[in-house]
Amino acid sequence: MGKLLKGGLALGGVALAAGGLKWALSSEPRYAPWEKPRFRDFEHRVLILGGGFAGYNVAKNICNLTRNREDVGVMVISRDNYLTFWPMVPGIVSSDVGVKNIAQPLRRTLIYDGASFRRATVEDVDFERQIVTADGHEFPYDHLVFALGAQPSFFGIPGVEEHAMPMKGITDAVKIRNRVIERFEEAVLAGGEVPESKLTFVVIGAGATGVETAAQLHVLIHEVLGPEYPNVNPNRFRIYLLDALPNILPELDPGLRRVAHGQLAAREIEVMTNALAQEVTENCVKLKDGREIATENVIWTAGARPNSLLEKLGLPLNEKTRGVKVDEYFRVEGFTNVWAIGDNATIPTGENGFVPPNAQAAVKEGAHLARNILAEIDGKAIKPFKYKSQGQLIDLGSHFAVNDAFGVKFSGRMASLFWRGAYLVRLESPQGRVRQAFDWALEYFARPTVAQIRDYQAAE
Ligand SMILES: Cc1cc2nc3c(=O)[nH]c(=O)nc-3n(C[C@H](O)[C@H](O)[C@H](O)COP(=O)(O)OP(=O)(O)OC[C@H]3O[C@@H](n4cnc5c(N)ncnc54)[C@H](O)[C@@H]3O)c2cc1C
Repeated sequence: MGKLLKGGLALGGVALAAGGLKWALSSEPRYAPWEKPRFRDFEHRVLILGGGFAGYNVAKNICNLTRNREDVGVMVISRDNYLTFWPMVPGIVSSDVGVKNIAQPLRRTLIYDGASFRRATVEDVDFERQIVTADGHEFPYDHLVFALGAQPSFFGIPGVEEHAMPMKGITDAVKIRNRVIERFEEAVLAGGEVPESKLTFVVIGAGATGVETAAQLHVLIHEVLGPEYPNVNPNRFRIYLLDALPNILPELDPGLRRVAHGQLAAREIEVMTNALAQEVTENCVKLKDGREIATENVIWTAGARPNSLLEKLGLPLNEKTRGVKVDEYFRVEGFTNVWAIGDNATIPTGENGFVPPNAQAAVKEGAHLARNILAEIDGKAIKPFKYKSQGQLIDLGSHFAVNDAFGVKFSGRMASLFWRGAYLVRLESPQGRVRQAFDWALEYFARPTVAQIRDYQAAE
């Protein structure tokens, strides 16, 4: 009887947990397919260009704020049909993070919120006719939001564009992982007779992305792949992290910076500061001071600039940053109904500075702009944006992170757990959140599995 009762209780618990999970993962779209009005038929049409952190958050917040009204239509046009969760992208390199967990489905989320979505590349804007052209199709607007993000900037350094792998997207992270696997395979086939340059990885740029990428390369080589290639000595792989500045992670607290530097050094990642890359060739990085590093694997994380399409469209740009000039309400200079936020905008802070181009700022800007656009539609006063940083979290892999969260500075294993929790709850896709949590739990028992899918995009 006791056993029966226990069994029943256990079964009941499992059923309850399964029901809870199903409830958490399911949601209903705002409109049934036959009920949804066409975007062009709404009285106020808000057209958002770019479905990244900034663009998605404008759309989501306008939809939430207009649940009980039918006069505001929202459409997002974006090149990809997913929202990249950038803070976890370096984790793809070591397979600590799964691609499908952080490429969050944009179409489903937006349609469920009540917005429209078009996967298309923006080509042109006719500001007089208030028409955007994307993939040859025309889209009208009453309010237009630029949220087209940034792109790598190579500062005209010879050879970078041809020979370096940029780290600006999910496919880039997969390419870098595949390159490491390729080098292991080449080494094993050649019985170890491969030149050092093939096994040397140079990451240029020691900001957050560069540091995290170098750390994840180390995890991939030593913790994930090393044990699977008994004939290749993983210590033959070298990782260099270069920066032209005197410090790595220049935006981080100096104490945490030292901890991070110490961790990288303990893993024998060679950190070179005051090291300005002057040229990249097929098999070498040449520094300004004359030093040369023999390498056939260069990763570029040193520079980003606002989307170059903005220049083509003739928008007013900040001379230094090349981002769209906006006021503290996000209104583009010279326009009344055109707005810009996120990495493609240069937003004044009111203290002679600019809001930094990062994900936490983009999310807040999106929510604020949604309220300003609705206030403008309703003839109410719009409010200036005030930015306050919440800090910075840097994951160094191997269960180690350095965090500055709301002024509290901490590092180590607890910091790594905090990093995971903080970003897990911010993933938009509930499925992605659950899968990634399971993957991390599984990691405590077994190393992640890695496969080299060579033509990644074709394989998708
Ligand atoms: C590897 C990496 C890691 C990062 N990690 C962090 C982090 O840990 N914390 C943090 O705060 N910030 C991080 N950042 C910075 C952060 O990702 C950006 O600041 C943030 O994404 C800016 O949001 P956004 O919407 O302006 O741009 P994005 O998120 O880049 O979105 C731009 C959107 O525009 C679309 N687009 C571009 N051109 C066109 C076009 N012509 N037509 C249609 N669509 C177009 C793109 O497809 C994309 O969907 C990281 C960046 C990188 C590259």
